[in-house]
Amino acid sequence: MFDGGGARAHLVQLDRSWLEVACKHDTSPDVMRLLGEMSCASILLSASLKYEGSVILQIHGDGPVRLAVAECNAKLGFRSTIKMSETLEPAPGADWKALVNQNNLGRFSVVLDPKIDNQHPYQGIVPLHEAGVAQALESYMQRSEQLPTRLWLACNGERAAGLLLQKMPHQGGTNKKSDAQSEAATEASDDDWERLITLAQTVTAEELLNVEAETLLHRLFWQEAPKLLEDKPVQFSCSCSRARVGRMLKTLGAEEVESILAEQGQVDVHCDFCNAAYHFDAVDCAALFTGEHPPSSEDPSTIH
Ligand SMILES: [Zn+2]
Repeated sequence: MFDGGGARAHLVQLDRSWLEVACKHDTSPDVMRLLGEMSCASILLSASLKYEGSVILQIHGDGPVRLAVAECNAKLGFRSTIKMSETLEPAPGADWKALVNQNNLGRFSVVLDPKIDNQHPYQGIVPLHEAGVAQALESYMQRSEQLPTRLWLACNGERAAGLLLQKMPHQGGTNKKSDAQSEAATEASDDDWERLITLAQTVTAEELLNVEAETLLHRLFWQEAPKLLEDKPVQFSCSCSRARVGRMLKTLGAEEVESILAEQGQVDVHCDFCNAAYHFDAVDCAALFTGEHPPSSEDPSTIH
C-alpha cells in the first residue's frame, strides 16, 4: 500500500499450483503463457476488487484457442482451462491476436459470479483489440470500473506471476469550499500515480517469475516506502463435485439423459479443470430423477 499515492500493488507468484494446471494441458508454450497470464489476472482482480464471489475471465477465441477460462474465488482458490480448435494449430510464437482474435470475432469477458442461488452473474465485455491480456484488462478496468489499473503478467513452463497496480477510488467530498483543495489533491495523486507506474514498469518477466515477492516489491518501490500487507496463500481449487454434476444432468432433463444412457450405457462427465471423471450408470441416473440416493453416490477422485 502506498500512503501518499492512494494506490495499491498486488503481486502474485504461482509455482506448484500453476504446475497443477500446466500438467493437465498438452499444448504450445504460447497457449500456456496465455492461460498462465489469465490465471494470474483473475487472482489479482479477485484480490483487488475484494469480490465475495468468483471472478471469471473467459475468452471465446476465433483462432487456435476456442475457449480459455480462469476463475478465482474469494479465498484465492483458482482454476483454469483451455480448449483448442480441432482444426487450427497455433503457429510457433503465435501472439495473442493470432491465438484468440484472428478474424476479430473473439470475445473476452469478465464475469463476476456471486455464487449465490438466484443471484445472476454480472458480465462485462473486455476489448480484444489491445495488445494482450494485461492491456485488455487495463482498458476494461478503466472503462467499466473507473479504476485506473496497470498489470504486468508473465508465465513460463513452470511458473506464472503478475503485478497489479491500482489507484484507489478518489474520496471526493461535496463541500464547495474544498473544491480547489480536492482538485490539488487529485492532481498530486495523479503525479504519484504516474511515478508508481514509471517504477513498476521497470519490472521484467524474469523478475516477476523468479524474485521473491517482498524483495521484488522493495526493489521496485523502495523510494515510495510501501507498507507491506499480509501474505495470502493461493491454491489450485476446483469446485466440481458429483452432486453438482448430478444437478447439471437434472437440468438436461430425463429424456436427454436417457438418450445418452441408451447410446453409451452410462453417462460420463469429465471436468476440464481438474480432470475428475464422474460416471452415472442407469441406476444413478434413475435416482437423479426420483430423488433417491443410489448406493454408489460417493464422490470419486475429487481431492485437491
Ligand atoms: Zn473439477
